[in-house]
Amino acid sequence: MKQLLSHLQNFRVDNSLVRQSSIALKTAFNSILPLRCCLCMQPDQHGFCHQCKQLLPWLGCACMKCGTTLPTEGICGRCQTKPVGFDSSAIPFRYIDPISHEIHSLKYRRKLAVAPALGKMLATQVVKNMSQLPDALLPVPLHINRIKQRGFNQAGLIAESTGKLLGIPVDYEVISRSKDTVSQTSLDQEERGKNMHKAFAVHVNGRYDAVAVIDDVITSGATIDAICTELRLNGYDNISAWAIAKT
Ligand SMILES: [Zn+2]
Ligand SMILES: [Zn+2]
Repeated sequence: MKQLLSHLQNFRVDNSLVRQSSIALKTAFNSILPLRCCLCMQPDQHGFCHQCKQLLPWLGCACMKCGTTLPTEGICGRCQTKPVGFDSSAIPFRYIDPISHEIHSLKYRRKLAVAPALGKMLATQVVKNMSQLPDALLPVPLHINRIKQRGFNQAGLIAESTGKLLGIPVDYEVISRSKDTVSQTSLDQEERGKNMHKAFAVHVNGRYDAVAVIDDVITSGATIDAICTELRLNGYDNISAWAIAKT
């Protein structure tokens, strides 16, 4: 694990995983990343080429707990008065174009090659932000009706890619979605909380010391908050929220 972490840290500095000495890591990396840049479609093994990476809406300085953009490092006002359910977060991007477009393409146009590219961006952010890695990644589950409709869970695809790069297992057994909730996009903050109330169930008590809940986008945080409530009731204390983007 330490060796892999060191490789990813080096990658961040060198901006090229291909230059890494670890053949094993390079092989794993090549096997899960697309061979073209997701944006300009030029041949590229990183998911986003060097030029396009400069155009991505990086989150920059943000609240250490919830990921809200801040002018300086620290904890935002909201987290100081009404803390979110998770202990820390790792979110590389703001939810605007071209990242919002890519996430939309993944979910609604089955552009599945985006998932490993985004998963790698998330892994890099995690290495940059977090001093300790969790024992398992828990993708936000979709209700069975949504799975049938879409055919896949985008959070699961992203978690698989991030987990592979960081050497962390993805566990689908811990949480399930017990309620087929309506889309959060048309709801205000209070309605979002009510919509998510009892939406999730935890099936395995305290299997891990530390977990990261993975979603594609964090909006109000109501979804992950609802999961955190259930996780804490079932013996999980150390919970991170990882997502590709924050609105
Ligand atoms: Zn490109
Ligand atoms: Zn905050």
